[in-house]
Amino acid sequence: MKVLIIGGGGREHALAWKCAQSPRVEHVYVAPGNAGTAAETNTSNIDIAADDTESLIAFAAREKIALTIVGPEGPLVAGIVDRFAAANLRCFGPTRAAARLEGSKAFTKDFLKRYRIPTAGYAAFTSANFDADYVRAQRLPLVVKADGLAAGKGVVICETHEAALATATAMLGGSFGAAGSTVVIEEYLSGEEVSFIVVAHDRQVVPLATSQDHKRRDDGDLGPNTGGMGAYSPAPIVTPALHGRIMREVIEPTLLGLRNDGNPYTGFLYAGLMIAGDGTPNVLEFNCRFGDPETQPVLMRLKSDFIDLCEAAIQGTLDRVETRWDSRAALGVVMAAAGYPDSYRKGDAISGLEAAARLPGKVFHAGTMRQGTGVVTSGGRVLCAAALGDTVGDAQHHAYDLVHAIHWNLVQYRRDIGYRAIARSLSD
Ligand code: AMP
Repeated sequence: MKVLIIGGGGREHALAWKCAQSPRVEHVYVAPGNAGTAAETNTSNIDIAADDTESLIAFAAREKIALTIVGPEGPLVAGIVDRFAAANLRCFGPTRAAARLEGSKAFTKDFLKRYRIPTAGYAAFTSANFDADYVRAQRLPLVVKADGLAAGKGVVICETHEAALATATAMLGGSFGAAGSTVVIEEYLSGEEVSFIVVAHDRQVVPLATSQDHKRRDDGDLGPNTGGMGAYSPAPIVTPALHGRIMREVIEPTLLGLRNDGNPYTGFLYAGLMIAGDGTPNVLEFNCRFGDPETQPVLMRLKSDFIDLCEAAIQGTLDRVETRWDSRAALGVVMAAAGYPDSYRKGDAISGLEAAARLPGKVFHAGTMRQGTGVVTSGGRVLCAAALGDTVGDAQHHAYDLVHAIHWNLVQYRRDIGYRAIARSLSD
């Protein structure tokens, strides 16, 4: 069969790489892809943007694509799955109505409250009903969130009431466009963050291997929030007991609630959780797709057929599918362009990719493109150097060997990806 992957980041490189390994797959197309997907076997890039739904549908129909998998949230929230379905094409992901779980934070907070799923206390405002007195009465720090999609930048942690008021006012005034026309003011939660990702079809659910990412740019979880600077799998914090709690208290009631509301969910469902000191899994956010960079280490560990898993989710036969995982750990380090997550440099020549290809592990591309015979940077997050190892520490060692083999002008990356898991294993 032919498969189409929509998107062009590190997650999509990992999805394409994994799909191409399936004996059932004859060719993988990636729209628009990157220099990494262009170099994979049985894989080619097509020059269609991820949000150009009409052209994607025309391509899928013409090429008789048997399965389309959508990487990024934008097309899902805009309703690409409904549009493919209307054209009689199989597209893996939630419908527009179900993808609101990521598309609107105010919607999701109301949903969580209604179904008594643990999450931080909150209030949502538009400029018509904004209540500065409410904000001043809240305990600090306060978290201010733009309601809609803001490319990971719509969350600001405010240490003073003045900062919270200024942030909310700026968002309501249009600093995030329509995404900020509603703001959520949320209680600050402390604890350790966990990404919990499942494949779902209505109430059927297969949890993927656990993982943990690193959202802050700098070592020690300092600096600004980013799309993610590295991730590893498994996440030792997710003990079997916590796994059970997350399934019972978050995933199952969420899928049931969506069904009750008439919006049953199919696709990857990603819960961003803050695990409180007493083990309560508080929902920070939902994403309606696979995480980036969690996809890279998680798929490195998947031994069973990924196409079978996606098809079972579409057909509603997840209860019959078998997923097998490599017992080793995997860890990926994101290499980013100077300036990221703000405006960043582009067009720097990347050296060392051939040397890295001879080492154990896999370098997934994100913001890269071919130029002449070489590869240059073209995005904020440029590469994710990922490797397997017997422990998270071993995987970290191999991943940094890849990182050290690769260079471009002013490359930046964290030097401590996996540090919490390694500290945990040392204290066990
Ligand atoms: P979100 O997009 O809602 O996951 O927020 C992005 C990041 O902001 C999260 O990964 C957390 O690190 C942080 N964050 C969001 N909400 C809260 C909260 N209520 N308390 C503490 N940190 C938060």
